[in-house]
Amino acid sequence: MTLSSVVIVGAGQAGYQTAASLRQLGFAGRITLLSDEDELPYQRPPLSKAYLLGQLDERRLLHRQEKWYADQGVTLLCDAAVAIDRAGHAVTTASGASVPYDHLVLATGAHNRPLPVPGAELGGVFGMRVKADADALAPLLGAGARVIVVGAGFIGLEFASVAAKLGASVHVVEVADRPMARALSAETAAFFRAAHERWGTTFDFGAGLARIDGADGRVGGVTTSDGRALPADLVVYGIGVVPNTALAEAAELAVANGIVVDERLLTADPDVSALGDAVSFPCAQLGGAPMRLESVQNAADQARHVAARLLGRADVYGALPWFWSEQGDLNLQIAGLSLGCDRVVDLAGVGENEKAVLCFRGGVLVAVETVNRPADHMAARRMLAGHPELTVAEAEASGFDLTAWERAHALATAG
Ligand code: FAD
Ligand code: NAP
Repeated sequence: MTLSSVVIVGAGQAGYQTAASLRQLGFAGRITLLSDEDELPYQRPPLSKAYLLGQLDERRLLHRQEKWYADQGVTLLCDAAVAIDRAGHAVTTASGASVPYDHLVLATGAHNRPLPVPGAELGGVFGMRVKADADALAPLLGAGARVIVVGAGFIGLEFASVAAKLGASVHVVEVADRPMARALSAETAAFFRAAHERWGTTFDFGAGLARIDGADGRVGGVTTSDGRALPADLVVYGIGVVPNTALAEAAELAVANGIVVDERLLTADPDVSALGDAVSFPCAQLGGAPMRLESVQNAADQARHVAARLLGRADVYGALPWFWSEQGDLNLQIAGLSLGCDRVVDLAGVGENEKAVLCFRGGVLVAVETVNRPADHMAARRMLAGHPELTVAEAEASGFDLTAWERAHALATAG
């Protein structure tokens, strides 16, 4: 059947990119983008970085200006999808409209895991996911503000570095024993802990919050799980996300830590694809094990893939995962997935304020973490996208240079 209309639910990174890629690849049919946010589609990463710091304005936060949607014939409806009629090939929206589709793309993303403590409803307690969160927080930061950050993941630490830079006093409470424990080796995590401490942030590891204490409906302090009282004007939490799967579940699509899709990013319904933060997909880098990834690369590459597949130009998804984070003057880049890694080589001799850590699993290079070393990151991505034949012994050799090794290896392979 010729595809004449695609409906995309969710206008975040994955939804926007699916629409853009369909047009770039020449799709001439109808594209409808349904959003439950009352904004033109925007990028989330700057919310905890340049936008919060006031270094990026609202216009530049947008993926595209309003005119682009008209020029490209992409109908953006700020009207949430509330039900899918799979047999009838139509989506019902909150306003009661019925939007027909030939193919449906679910790009519903994720929402913040709520902070499960008494007092979380007080004024001055913020999560960070949408533009309104950053808009509300920005004017409250500044010299003298006492900020408790709950969770030393990406959100918590990016926010902490901005708040510290703006002169706030920042205290981070984290249940794990180190920062970004889910994503980073102990070596790189220790490097980041030291940097944040230099910027004035204090940490409580192995600790959670018992409650948030307040007066007159506003935060006045917190009590930690081990009974200590800390004063606070603001509490900002980043304790992970929950995929938005209710719509798919109600339409009887399989859900298991995300909407379940196959290696083509298709659900069990051949007319429904799903992608981005919301999905669990068979991950090529993990031998096809199910994985849910929360990153711009994942959302954007999956969107490009779905658009290409709908036009008959792609089949199996296998892009290499990579991530980045900006904290203070440190640009962290991670190529690959370090899950299950059993050997780490911390490259000596890299410059001050720089880091390069190689992660191996069963003797095979699976991930490379770098700080302020973009050339090494790009070399690592090229290596990991092919067959990374680097051995632990080579990486451990004195004077090993990752970028030079990749260049020499690529030349040898080409020759
Ligand atoms: P989302 O961006 O969550 O978009 C999904 C959209 O669908 C949302 O607007 C949601 O409201 C909407 N929606 C849900 N249900 C419905 C419905 N029924 N009808 C209509 N609309 C619906 N990643 C990086 O790689 N690097 C970074 O530096 C980075 N920084 C980040 C900073 C912050 C503050 C945050 C919050 C995230 C950051 N991320 C970063 C993560 C990255 O932004 C996400 O992985 C990415 O946005 C996922 O895209 P998505 O489209 O799958 O989901
Ligand atoms: P995250 O990276 O999963 O980090 C959450 C951290 O909070 C984890 O270390 C978690 O520990 C800890 N935690 C959980 N419950 C806690 C509690 N009750 N008290 C104290 N600590 C607790 O998630 P996030 O930082 O909230 O980020 C949210 C989303 O935005 C994610 O999708 C993330 O990928 C994305 N994001 C990405 C970037 C980036 O890629 N640069 C930047 C910002 C945001 P456990 O792991 O042990 O549960």
